[in-house]
Amino acid sequence: MKYSYSAGIGYDIHRLVRGRRLVIGGIEIPFDFGLKGYSDADVLIHSIVDAILGASGLGDIGLYFPDTDPKYKDIDSTEILRRTKRLIQSKGFEIVNIDATVIAERPRLDSYRKAITENLSKILGMKSNCVNLKAKTNEGLGLVGEVKAIASISVVVLRSPMIKRGG
Ligand code: MG
Repeated sequence: MKYSYSAGIGYDIHRLVRGRRLVIGGIEIPFDFGLKGYSDADVLIHSIVDAILGASGLGDIGLYFPDTDPKYKDIDSTEILRRTKRLIQSKGFEIVNIDATVIAERPRLDSYRKAITENLSKILGMKSNCVNLKAKTNEGLGLVGEVKAIASISVVVLRSPMIKRGG
């Protein structure tokens, strides 16, 4: 079967505050601070969801999961990811691969990479080697460098069957 391919990019950033859990890629990470947000503020999943929606031409995360809707208060972002996958599947898309970067001065995420990529690939029904995560610091610069925020950038490639036209 012939496929057409499309790429999308997603970006997100959340503030680090006391009294919140730190959840990245659906994995809870022990730390003195957590990410502030309307949902569980999973910055990695939010950037992946935006990349998926970008590649499919279906808009952005705020369109489907507005932070003004009480339905989505404290929602588990893995549920947002599941629903996004169902949405693009219903339009004929499947995810080829995900390449994501989380930029955090602290905590160091290297030791969680495997747990996070395995969790995301399980949720999305993908091979774990098709989900790549890079964990970087911001070299002490800016809000991320001052441990006041964590940011994430993701790229996703989708494919959909090419539809034969005419005879
Ligand atoms: Mg977000």
